Amino acid sequence: MSSRTLEVTEPIHEYMLGVSLREPTVLTKLREETAPLEAAGMQISPEQGQFMRLLVKLIGAKRTLEVGVFTGYSSLSVAMVLPDDGQIIACDVSEEWTAIARRYWQAAGIAHKIDLRLAPATETLAALVADETNHGTFDFAFIDADKANYATYYEHALKLLRRGGVIAVDNVLWDGALVDESKQDADTNAIRALNKLIHKDDRVDISLVPIGDGLTLARKR
Ligand code: CA
Repeated sequence: MSSRTLEVTEPIHEYMLGVSLREPTVLTKLREETAPLEAAGMQISPEQGQFMRLLVKLIGAKRTLEVGVFTGYSSLSVAMVLPDDGQIIACDVSEEWTAIARRYWQAAGIAHKIDLRLAPATETLAALVADETNHGTFDFAFIDADKANYATYYEHALKLLRRGGVIAVDNVLWDGALVDESKQDADTNAIRALNKLIHKDDRVDISLVPIGDGLTLARKR
């Protein structure tokens, strides 16, 4: 027994999935198609997808944001549990990766819930924020794109979220690089800075969940 978070070894991870993972077939297929890609590491883990599906259900989310689509695993996960008139405004810049995402959204019958905006997410979010009628209207936001802009995405998302809405920020443990002081690249430092900012941010209630590469949940007060 321990009062600290368990180190998830390979056998423990396997056991955990064995007794808890419920992955719809369409998501398994998407994971298999993504696996050979060079950037496959950008896909969230299946247990994180399941966690996000549960989270979205728990808060009764209807209108959501996604910053960073890649091949669509997280957006498909969220869209599957949104009500039929639910919506994801999904931001990405890659035609190539989102073409894969679109195929799976179609196959799963949830494409009508996803409004893909192919443009830099800073622009898409700034445009949403510029229209004040959007403020306080989103229930959930998933931030998982270029790390240098994380703080900007977080601030925009916070404006767009309703009170009680949740922002989930991915890769907040950054494969352990944050505790290695020799790692001073822009991405690593951007995540360090955002983690510090969120820790002190009294606009939100928070928890850093050590699932996948670390997922911070910030609930707007
Ligand atoms: Ca990620």
